[in-house]
Amino acid sequence: MRLALCGHTGALRDPAPAPCRCQATPDDACACGAWRVLRRRLHLPAGRAVSSRRASPQRVRVRVRVPVPGGGLRTMAEAAAGSRPPPDVDGDECLREYGHLFSPDILAGQVAFITGGGSGIGFRIAEIFMRHGCRTVIASRSLQRVVEASKKLVAATGQQCLPLSIDVRQPQTIVAAVDEALKEFKRIDILVNGAAGNFLCPASALSFNAFKTVIDIDTIGTFNTSKVLFEKYFRDHGGVIVNITATLSYRGQALQVHAGTAKAAIDAMTRHLAVEWGPNNVRVNSLAPGPITGTEGYRRLGGKFAEEASHFDMIPLQRAGNKTEIAHSTLYLASPLSSYVTGTTLVVDGGSWLTSANSFPALLDFWAAGASKNH
Ligand code: NAP
Repeated sequence: MRLALCGHTGALRDPAPAPCRCQATPDDACACGAWRVLRRRLHLPAGRAVSSRRASPQRVRVRVRVPVPGGGLRTMAEAAAGSRPPPDVDGDECLREYGHLFSPDILAGQVAFITGGGSGIGFRIAEIFMRHGCRTVIASRSLQRVVEASKKLVAATGQQCLPLSIDVRQPQTIVAAVDEALKEFKRIDILVNGAAGNFLCPASALSFNAFKTVIDIDTIGTFNTSKVLFEKYFRDHGGVIVNITATLSYRGQALQVHAGTAKAAIDAMTRHLAVEWGPNNVRVNSLAPGPITGTEGYRRLGGKFAEEASHFDMIPLQRAGNKTEIAHSTLYLASPLSSYVTGTTLVVDGGSWLTSANSFPALLDFWAAGASKNH
């Protein structure tokens, strides 16, 4: 049986469709794009009829008609713009250009304390916050790293950025840093817990100390920093905490028992602290990124390898994410736009955890070949 589809009505018709408003016939290149989109989605060559076996009405209807605000429909080609990534640059460099999507002063007058803010995702979060009127404290073990990062951030945004050295495993270093930040800025409104360590390793090869170290930095470090900030400022003034976690535990990602366990514990901590600190006007949420390009995590966990092996084709949005996308979602959670959101985890992964591969033998081969060191 031959079925055909009109992009304007979204319906499958038998035996022949009413022509699209653009007057194209089913086998023409349709100016409204609906026929081309359907062919591409079903991997049909041009000129071949759409059969009822390959095009279930449900599939076709969902993919072709997209309502737009104010009424009407737009084609999938136009709708795809909604999942196009914003510009980003690799390495710990500021964006060459930036167009605001949120109000540019959405964080005006506020101060954010960002652990791990000297590199990768944390660096871009600092930049995007500063581009929205926020002053920042970026803190990690290497003073040189955060000093260099702060120079770039100040030059690109014109906002203040205070670089400080802390080890989130040692509460006294956090206390000293928070004291210094409060002396400088008199307030801290937002805490982003981004400091973490990760690498690929099968559980059987993981040393006791390696497992403990990841828990110490990720989980205990997040608790230490949150507790110091709460006691020194948030208890009396309110605040927002965003914990950067991961989706690794959702399906038991191979070679990631250490980080998966550590991040799952942080997601639990997010809910506990949201309950206990909500009455103090403190919101606590997690943000779980998927594979993010231009980061240490991407390099160490085989991102390039996945890219070369076309593994991202399996992700619903069919690509890795970028740091700006994570920073935008963090900005949402840190801003008044999410004023009624607490105790939750925002997954920002293009749907990755739902469909990406989790093959223990394949990852074991990759690890054994030492590829994780080279990518
Ligand atoms: P990254 O650049 O290596 O960021 C980690 C940061 O943590 C570094 O700036 C590091 O700076 C700091 N840090 C490590 N140990 C610390 C300690 N004991 N005390 C204080 N700071 C410490 O990695 P990233 O890939 O951008 O990851 C950022 C966050 O996103 C992490 O929480 C990570 O788990 C999460 N994430 C990343 C991805 C991804 O694809 N990249 C995916 C899911 C989740 P120092 O070395 O100077 O201390």
